[in-house]
Amino acid sequence: LDRFDVIVIGGGIIGLAASYYLLKAGKRVVLIEKNEFGSGASCACDDAIFFQSKKPGINLELTLGSIELYKSLSGELDIDLEFENSGGMVLIEDHEQLKVMEQFVKEQNSFGLQIEILDKKDILKKQPYVNSDIVASTYCKKDSQINPMRVMRGLISKGKKLGLEIRKSSKIIEINQRKDGWSIRLDNQKIIESEYVVNSAGAWAADIGALIGIHIPIVPKRGQIAISEPVPALGETNVWSAQYIVTKIAPELQMNQSEAYKRLGIGLALSRASTGNYLIGSTREYVGFNKNTTVEAIQIILDEARRLFPVLKTVHVIRTFAGLRPASCDGKPIIGEVTDKRGFYIAAGHEGDGIALAPVTGKVIADLISGKKPMYNIDELNLKRFNN
Ligand SMILES: Cc1cc2nc3c(=O)[nH]c(=O)nc-3n(C[C@H](O)[C@H](O)[C@H](O)COP(=O)(O)OP(=O)(O)OC[C@H]3O[C@@H](n4cnc5c(N)ncnc54)[C@H](O)[C@@H]3O)c2cc1C
Repeated sequence: LDRFDVIVIGGGIIGLAASYYLLKAGKRVVLIEKNEFGSGASCACDDAIFFQSKKPGINLELTLGSIELYKSLSGELDIDLEFENSGGMVLIEDHEQLKVMEQFVKEQNSFGLQIEILDKKDILKKQPYVNSDIVASTYCKKDSQINPMRVMRGLISKGKKLGLEIRKSSKIIEINQRKDGWSIRLDNQKIIESEYVVNSAGAWAADIGALIGIHIPIVPKRGQIAISEPVPALGETNVWSAQYIVTKIAPELQMNQSEAYKRLGIGLALSRASTGNYLIGSTREYVGFNKNTTVEAIQIILDEARRLFPVLKTVHVIRTFAGLRPASCDGKPIIGEVTDKRGFYIAAGHEGDGIALAPVTGKVIADLISGKKPMYNIDELNLKRFNN
């Protein structure tokens, strides 16, 4: 029998960030991962800390905090996290999109972001290869990127130095509440006990909830991505289509789209990794735990990329993959202690924002468990908002 202060469930970027900040707060932590680290969404995703896709409110507020923590982590972890701050642009293709984006930018700027709307001349200075039909573009200097795989590697190796215990290839088959905390039974029949549990099982968080009789409304939302061969940068910043913003945070505003675009939830994101490979995504699909890619979706994503940047027609795609975003039904993560389950915390449901929000989520969870006032008031993110 093992006893720890905290059992963290799930070795994705959220579980690893929570473990790291808990260890820094002096807690004894065991991290349980049913497969391998990063086998969920956190190694099958993009790399954006993308402010422009956050609705004004708690998600945007937390992203502002998270980027500061990433800057500190870049010094704390013994690995280059490939943090880059080159800004981001949302490409606008017609006047209908422009109206939608102008309103959205106004709301975000009133929240403190500084987003400009660029005209064609300024767009071409930053994106010389963009399709000449583009009518306008947003530009936000704050938009950044980070390599999630490096973040995870850094958190694992620093975590180990701080005493992190790891149980990989370990499936949890039973969770029981006890007088003094929690006990967990693994499929090898080993029992681990702790005062606190953190459920950071991503798209699988609901399965863990079911083991203690609670309903956690998180489902997988598939995203498919194509990776290009390494090429020189197309422009100064990473880019997104205006359709991406609408698909992600304002689907009620569906702009002119084909049936397939709507069904697959297409929205173009074009991000250049430090190696020169472009990450070309993506879809937003509800297909259960199916992680396959489809010819139809990849073809549409690539057509979209080549339409906006015709020069990409000559660039090869070297691989494709899909990841399962942990999606809650209101687009916000679920973070906090579960009512009537003392010591049981949830840190999941970050959908398309988990890379951006990992450090702030980990820090807030560590503060709550250590009895400190967290750096943000996250009451609105508690599971109880769904009347659970
Ligand atoms: C195509 C795509 C693009 C994306 N782009 C971005 C982006 O640019 N920026 C951004 O911020 N976010 C992005 N995301 C979202 C981001 O990837 C996720 O929000 C984030 O990875 C979620 O991390 P997680 O740790 O909660 O989940 P996961 O990484 O899925 O980790 C959960 C872990 O729990 C483990 N697990 C499950 N069940 C159990 C169990 N019973 N016992 C033990 N372990 C268990 C799983 O094996 C898994 O390793 C993207 C996602 C996709 C799919």
